[in-house]
This record gives sequence, C-alpha cells and structure tokens, in this order.
Amino acid sequence: MDEHIPPRSGSGWIEVVVGSMYSGKTEELIRRLRRAQIARQRVEIFKPIIDDRYAKDHIVSHSELRIPSRSVKTAKEILRWAHEAQVIGIDEGQFLGPALLDVVERLARQGKRVIVAGLDQDYMGQPFEPMPQLLAIAEYITKTLAICMVCGSPANRTYRKVARGGRVVVGGADLYEARCRRCYDLGRRAQAMAPIHEFTGETDARPKTARRTAGARRKPSAPGRVRKQDR
Ligand SMILES: [Zn+2]
Repeated sequence: MDEHIPPRSGSGWIEVVVGSMYSGKTEELIRRLRRAQIARQRVEIFKPIIDDRYAKDHIVSHSELRIPSRSVKTAKEILRWAHEAQVIGIDEGQFLGPALLDVVERLARQGKRVIVAGLDQDYMGQPFEPMPQLLAIAEYITKTLAICMVCGSPANRTYRKVARGGRVVVGGADLYEARCRRCYDLGRRAQAMAPIHEFTGETDARPKTARRTAGARRKPSAPGRVRKQDR
C-alpha cells in the first residue's frame, strides 16, 4: 500500500505518516525516500530548522537511519528547492505550521509525490496542527504505533515526563515516552495530583494557576491540598 506507482496522468499526490514519538515514522519516511533514490528518482528532503537534535543536514531516526536533508525555517522555503524534484520528503511536519498545507498542495499539483511525516498529537493528546488537516487532504495515510514504555501495549500517545514548557519542547528519551491510552491517562493524572514544583523543579510551590492569574478571583487552596494543574 505504501509503494505507490506514479500514475500515467502525471498527477502528484500526498502521503502522510503520523504517530507518536518512537513509532518509527521517520524510519518509514526514510525507507520510502531511499527506495525512490534507488529507482533514480530525483528526491529532495526537508526538515524544520527547530529540530536539530541529531544533525542539521540529515534526517535521523531513533534507530540511527539517516538521509541527507535541507533545513528550512518556513514551509514556503520548500518551494524554492523543490523545482527539480519528483519526490519530496518532509519530516516533523507539525513544526511547519498551517502554511505547509498550501505548499504540499502546490507540489502535488505540479505532479510530485509528497511524503510528510510528523506527530499527529501533542503531549496533551491534542491534534497537532497542521497534521490533522494534512491527513484530510492526503491520498495515502499511514499511522505508525509505538510500544507503550510502561506496559508494552500498542502506543499512540507521546507522554512528556516533566510538566513544563509549552507545546513545543524538543527532546528525546529524557523528556518523552510513548504510552498507550491507559498509561498515558494514569501518568497525566499523577502529574496533576503531584505538587507543581515536583515536576517543574520550581521552588514556588503555589499552584501555577494562582501565579498566572494573579488578581483573578480564586479561592485559595487549603494548605497541603493538591490541586489539578492547569493545562
Ligand atoms: Zn501502557
């Protein structure tokens, strides 16, 4: 299903590979791009500049597979380098924002095969734009599953081990785990129940909500009482 034969009409198409961290989506992207290269198709590969965990000029999977890539600041930059390509690979699509949708549509209209990999959910389990929209416009979708690092079930959530930072905190095994639905919920509940400073390393033990909404009418928590951390 994932090795698509170019149609005679010369029409392009979009393939999306999504899943949690450690689900092998980058590995799958690299596999498809490699096969295109072996077939002597002209391939261009991109990733957002934000993700330089392993290398600036390569896409690298957790299993150490790598393929040369170009780092871009914006989705539009891809158009500048894609003219000659027959196959376009894009990793970490969730970091390229809504402009990515128009870019991949244009490339597919030009007759190119466009393959985008990315996280479909953020660490809160919320759809990570623009991946949900990409899934809607893609011709082919692959969802990759990881193995839950707690219980071994199939996992489709990315669990952040420390409850700090915004939506985008680039990290590896020190920060993130793949978890199944159940273990993800249990972990999130435990984080919500624990005193804030335990997870953030902050010395201010007051609930985050109290600090952030200073002046807002809010009943103070009873001493020692744990409060649900704001999301
Ligand atoms: Zn589990």
